[in-house]
Amino acid sequence: MTKSALITGVTGQDGAYLAKLLLEKGYRVFGLIARRGTDTLWRLRELGIEQQVELINGDLTDVSSLIRAMETSQASEVYNLGAQSFVATSWEQPLLTAQVTGVSVTNVLEAIRIVNPTARFYQASTSEMFGLIQAEKQDEKTTFHPRSPYGVAKLYGHWMTINYRESFNIHASSGILFNHESPLRGIEFVTRKVTDAAARIKLGKQKELRLGNIDAKRDWGFAGDYVDAMWLMLQQEQPDDYVIATGRTTTVRDMCRIAFSHVGLNYEDHLLIDPKFFRPAEVEVLLGNPAKAHEKMGWEAKTSLETLIIMMADADMRRVEKE
Ligand code: NDP
Ligand code: GDP
Repeated sequence: MTKSALITGVTGQDGAYLAKLLLEKGYRVFGLIARRGTDTLWRLRELGIEQQVELINGDLTDVSSLIRAMETSQASEVYNLGAQSFVATSWEQPLLTAQVTGVSVTNVLEAIRIVNPTARFYQASTSEMFGLIQAEKQDEKTTFHPRSPYGVAKLYGHWMTINYRESFNIHASSGILFNHESPLRGIEFVTRKVTDAAARIKLGKQKELRLGNIDAKRDWGFAGDYVDAMWLMLQQEQPDDYVIATGRTTTVRDMCRIAFSHVGLNYEDHLLIDPKFFRPAEVEVLLGNPAKAHEKMGWEAKTSLETLIIMMADADMRRVEKE
């Protein structure tokens, strides 16, 4: 029998890659789509799967729509990727972030509990929960110390996932994913902001790039590799929590160097530091230890940062050339 999966956040970066992966595996893929004034299907279109994903209108903050989505999809696997996912915005809209990124996790869990408690659940947790890091390399046992309303909201979702596993025996897993990027990454995130700027400056459509804290370090991987881990978590006999990371950390500055030098530019000739992009509290460094995911699921990151940034810069060169 064909398996059905329900993805919240299907119009986002990870939602698009995960939908493609599940379609390739033969799933019927249902995606929750929130009402918006603008077109949000561009990522599904870029991956050529817009017609194959079955869209269900709904919003994470409206539990009735989630119950209907569970009924319509008959999903046996639910991937909760929907969120207000941008850290900087979470200080401007902390309560919306709490509702959408935090409390809504319980909405999805409740919809599962009411409609089909045997459905397996994946929660998109984040390395931002480590925030002010308490260990040089963060793993599943590292103490959390979130530094933004986003990180705090995600920590609530993480613990509710564990709580529903322990309280109701739901097969609920939490993937603690470190930053992952791709040509489908939102333009507000630093990698994509940099690759887009490198392309625009190269093609004479932009003069400078303004960034905030370029000494911040991140463990960046490729979203295409990371969605494999999401699926693997739901195929395990037991639900669990897993850190998904590359095990290498790089400064924003060095990431800029990779992007600009790929298009034949020196980032130092174009970069300006703008205090507007500094955050009220910063996560200075993140570095994950994905050993458990490797040992238990055979997962490992396949794409190097250099390959990833080059892939993104090439995609942005093609986009900007077409404008
Ligand atoms: P995106 O920001 O690209 O996608 C977020 C998705 O959530 C979009 O589809 C958006 O829909 C949807 N959404 C937002 N609000 C609502 C709502 N009220 N109801 C229904 N849907 C909503 O995120 P990513 O794909 O990058 O990330 C996926 C998940 O993984 C997120 O939860 C994120 O926080 C988490 N995560 C991401 C990491 C990363 O590095 N990418 C790292 C760790 C965790 P719309 O398009 O209509 O706005
Ligand atoms: P995050 O790790 O989820 O916050 O992902 P981002 O890509 O938004 O930010 C990664 C790091 O880049 C953070 O430490 C930011 O402070 C830093 N950074 C520096 N300049 C910028 C900028 O202009 N935009 C963004 N988004 N981040 C920046």
